[in-house]
Amino acid sequence: MPETPDHDYRSLCDLETAHLRWQGNGPVSLQFDDIYYSGADGVNESEHVFIGGNRLRERWQAPDRAAVFTIGETGFGTGLNFLLAARLWREIAPKHAHLHYVSAEKHPLALADLTRALSSRKEFADLAAQLLARYPEPVPGFHRITFAPGDSPAINLTLIFSDAIASLEQLLPVRQSPYTAHAPCHVDAWFLDGFAPAKNDSMWQSMLFEHMASLSHAATTFATFTAAGHVRRSLEAAGFAVRKTAGFGQKRDMLIGEFRAVSPRQGYSEKADTGSKPGTPAAFSPSARPTPSRKAATRKAAIIGGGLAGCTTARALAQRNWHVTLFEKLPNIADAGSGNTMAVTYPKLSHRPSAASRFNLAGITYAANYYAEWWHAGSARASYGERCGVLVLPKNEQERATQTSIANNFRRSPRLLRQVDQAEVRRLSGLPLAAPTGLYYPSLGWINPQALCRSLCKAKQIRIIHTAIDSLLWDETGGQWQLIDCEGTTANETFDAVVIASSNDSASFTQTAHLPLKALRGQVSTVDAAALTPHLKTVVCGEGYIGPRHEGSYTFGASYNFDCETLALREQDHHSNIDKLQRTDPALTDILGQTQANQAKGRAGLRCVTPDYLPIVGPAPVYRDFIENYAILRRNARAEVAVAGSYWPNLYLHCGLGSRGAIYAPIGAQLLADIMCRSIPTLPRDLQHALHPARFIIRGLKQNKL
Ligand SMILES: Cc1cc2nc3c(=O)[nH]c(=O)nc-3n(C[C@H](O)[C@H](O)[C@H](O)COP(=O)(O)OP(=O)(O)OC[C@H]3O[C@@H](n4cnc5c(N)ncnc54)[C@H](O)[C@@H]3O)c2cc1C
Repeated sequence: MPETPDHDYRSLCDLETAHLRWQGNGPVSLQFDDIYYSGADGVNESEHVFIGGNRLRERWQAPDRAAVFTIGETGFGTGLNFLLAARLWREIAPKHAHLHYVSAEKHPLALADLTRALSSRKEFADLAAQLLARYPEPVPGFHRITFAPGDSPAINLTLIFSDAIASLEQLLPVRQSPYTAHAPCHVDAWFLDGFAPAKNDSMWQSMLFEHMASLSHAATTFATFTAAGHVRRSLEAAGFAVRKTAGFGQKRDMLIGEFRAVSPRQGYSEKADTGSKPGTPAAFSPSARPTPSRKAATRKAAIIGGGLAGCTTARALAQRNWHVTLFEKLPNIADAGSGNTMAVTYPKLSHRPSAASRFNLAGITYAANYYAEWWHAGSARASYGERCGVLVLPKNEQERATQTSIANNFRRSPRLLRQVDQAEVRRLSGLPLAAPTGLYYPSLGWINPQALCRSLCKAKQIRIIHTAIDSLLWDETGGQWQLIDCEGTTANETFDAVVIASSNDSASFTQTAHLPLKALRGQVSTVDAAALTPHLKTVVCGEGYIGPRHEGSYTFGASYNFDCETLALREQDHHSNIDKLQRTDPALTDILGQTQANQAKGRAGLRCVTPDYLPIVGPAPVYRDFIENYAILRRNARAEVAVAGSYWPNLYLHCGLGSRGAIYAPIGAQLLADIMCRSIPTLPRDLQHALHPARFIIRGLKQNKL
């Protein structure tokens, strides 16, 4: 099997964008010497080939239509196919329905080019505007864009900026491994687009069709504009029934078809299955893949904990038609770790593509779009925070060199970050800072977690109950969870799924007592702004961080206290916060008023940290089964155990957000909703594993510590 070309999605630098020349407003690729669509008829061609070829109108209007539908596409290009499908979905799908559209693109159009290409597409005005407003920089990997549902059926677009084969490989079902918890996600219709096989042969390889087959079920269809013989043969070999039909315009033929219930290559799937290693993607037997249930059952979830993790998860589930009950033990939501009035979206990228750095990158790009809804609301809603930009100042020469490498790596992504010189540092911040350079993130800023959490929970599918949940009982017969509060009372309702988002208390349940969580106290300081000095205009991060002036004062911090859990304010922490600010840049302390440390206000809280400082997002493992099933790892850390992980039914975790809840909560919530709904994930497989709740058990066994 040839090596999967996954280097581009894993690397931590931006991609080469599409090089174009223009015929009017129609782009032509210089890399592939091919057109994106046929002149003025692009829309009609897309409609004929992909919408018609997959019978989408008919399927989306059928009485037994699916409430969730997934389209997989190769080659996003100008987004024309997506816009057509999305518009049709909005026109005819029921309100509670959900469209997932996943598209792989190796050379994304630069935003300016996409804007030009879509400028003449007035028919998609609203959708095209939303796409342009959220279109990512050419950063490799997964990008999730949620189209504001309003009253329309919901649409999630997952753009994977990478080679098509590597992209689909990230979605494949994994053979039995500790992290296998659920049935894999499936695609219902394929838009096999991209430049013509003669111009782009590296995409139209047999592995592409095998990956498509592995992601298909008995009712999956495909359509493609090409009728090339080797494409037809490869599709058939992968298990698709292929038919020629009339092409669009001057093209005589195109191909359509569906995935067969039985592969024509007898034993193909099973052979692939037994021949490959556990934990690797594999082609599953198509006959074992019935059409997913079409029922739009409303599911009920309980979420324990009303901080950033719980509230973002509640919203993500409500958007997918779940009815959510959020249990919070305090009288107000977001009054524990998430209780600060200012949380900065603090990026922490490295020039090395570690899981932490790649997750941070995914987190900041997602958070920038996520918070736009509140930030854009402007001064009327200023209490939600502000997109004021975040300026990261290097602590020393070495860090400055690292920032230069990061800026070089992302030189095509100025909306994400750019390195700025001293003059710009001063212009952006509004202060005479001494730093010779800085790394500036224009799309970030700060949020008010309390105000945000209250707003997140306003959806009508979310209700809040203020009580402490003490334990969880799985009712095997009814297949439901029961929640028992601290007085031993069972809630008079049961739930299909439970999400534990209780920060450090997430390990207080019998099912999750194994989680290695640690409370880490922190304190922020708030002091009045000095009169007659210029105001700070951005967030500035360095040794510490400080946000712009808000309601006449500055908030900065934060302390890290491993040995103490008091929530009372401590003067020594105010001193240490001022020291950090001074070390970040002396000009930052000049804007503080005359308030003495013993008069400073502030707030102390407990962060919840994990041993690798990454959050915990995913299904809750059954500890004892893991210890038993993977015991061999104690003796042989490299042993391959072909046993799927054992998990509590529909019990999930979202915790361990450390000091980065503002960045990690939105993307973690989105991923968890994907996992709970078995839909296209918002992160690649290796990052899902990096956040997986079972990772500490597997690592503990490998290190012979459990
Ligand atoms: C001083 C300080 C400064 C910080 N600054 C920043 C910053 O600038 N930027 C940033 O990104 N992050 C910052 N953080 C971190 C950020 O605040 C956290 O990552 C985030 O708030 C964690 O959210 P959470 O929902 O996981 O936890 P929490 O907000 O603590 O929410 C957990 C909730 O669960 C409830 N709960 C627990 N057990 C139960 C139960 N049994 N039943 C019912 N309810 C229960 C709790 O009452 C609580 O409300 C800071 C943290 C601190 C302490």
